[in-house]
Amino acid sequence: KLRVEETLRRKLHNQVQELKGNIRVFCRVRPLLEGAETEPAKIAFPDADSESKEVVVQGPEQRSALGNVTTATNPFSFDRVFGPASQNAEVFEEISQLVQSALDGYNVCIFCYGQTGSGKTHTMSAADGMIPRAVQQIYAEATRLEEKGWRYNMAGSFIEVYNENLNDLLGKSEDLDKKKLEIRHDTAKKQTTITDVTTVELDGPERVEQMLKLASNNRSVAATKANERSSRSHSVFILKLVGENSITGERSEGTLNLVDLAGSERLAHSQAQGERLKETQNINKSLSCLGDVINALGSSKENAHIPYRNSKLTYLLQYSLGGNSKTLMFVMVSPLQAHLQETITSLKFATKVHNTHIGTAKKQTKTKD
Ligand code: ADP
Ligand code: MG
Repeated sequence: KLRVEETLRRKLHNQVQELKGNIRVFCRVRPLLEGAETEPAKIAFPDADSESKEVVVQGPEQRSALGNVTTATNPFSFDRVFGPASQNAEVFEEISQLVQSALDGYNVCIFCYGQTGSGKTHTMSAADGMIPRAVQQIYAEATRLEEKGWRYNMAGSFIEVYNENLNDLLGKSEDLDKKKLEIRHDTAKKQTTITDVTTVELDGPERVEQMLKLASNNRSVAATKANERSSRSHSVFILKLVGENSITGERSEGTLNLVDLAGSERLAHSQAQGERLKETQNINKSLSCLGDVINALGSSKENAHIPYRNSKLTYLLQYSLGGNSKTLMFVMVSPLQAHLQETITSLKFATKVHNTHIGTAKKQTKTKD
């Protein structure tokens, strides 16, 4: 039995090693909502037990001058494709090692990218989604590591980037949109702090439920249409893990960032006015800036300039993107024919991210003097 455990442990270790230095991209296709949605797009995805990593989307019909109707088939490959029958539990299983590596001192970033209605929030923040599961698993693992002398401090914060401003989703609701948070970088230690942000000691799994409830209440107080606001802002759950080992004197600092991005739908400038136009421009800017940063990180040029400062989101995540970190992006796919064009645009963006190779991740463990 011991040998099996050892083999399993090594296999998992190798999987984590493999994640280093790469941006992984997983694709998830959500199911049609029963009773409400009836017009599916033609999307082929692998069966649950298949090894295939390809999703194939049939493009819109095109009519030639001679009247012939053709459709293009667009195959896209990623590191993993989850079909509509996949559950949050199964998705989490695939990323649990990555999440756990934050306890070993890595900076980890997981994004959900996709248009509004594609399943980002379901994947991240549902009661059985990534945020609660990640906290639960990290808590359990930290408890297990106590035996080996480790003591961890687990501090969670939850912020929103809306119109290029940072808001505290765990603060007082009346402060939202008024009290602006600022990002401070310690360039020597490569650490980020957010001024005045509320942090919650996540010293038990039930705390995370309270936290998510508070964040979602704050958002709904701030906007009459809470869904609309959340589709037009990014939310970032940040879990800082500082561990000290009383036996070996080791110290480890890792961060887990779980990011629910603003809806990626192309927002036509021409139709937007006033406040809406400003929002639109800010979303377009920050999503394309995220793409630019990833692109620059993958550049073969030495000392290539990485434009972190061009948006609040990339500036906030500066030390969790590239270099010392591990990044995973979920590209979320809606099954609807009406969303076909956006689906193809999202998959193209994700393919570009998938083709990026970044320098090797290093563990941020510091040994006490
Ligand atoms: P987004 O955050 O990308 O705008 P949501 O996560 O809110 O999208 O998903 C849109 C709708 O689809 C919600 O009603 C959500 O509950 C449902 N949904 C999304 N993904 C799934 C899934 N994998 N299984 C069942 N329902 C889902
Ligand atoms: Mg959402």
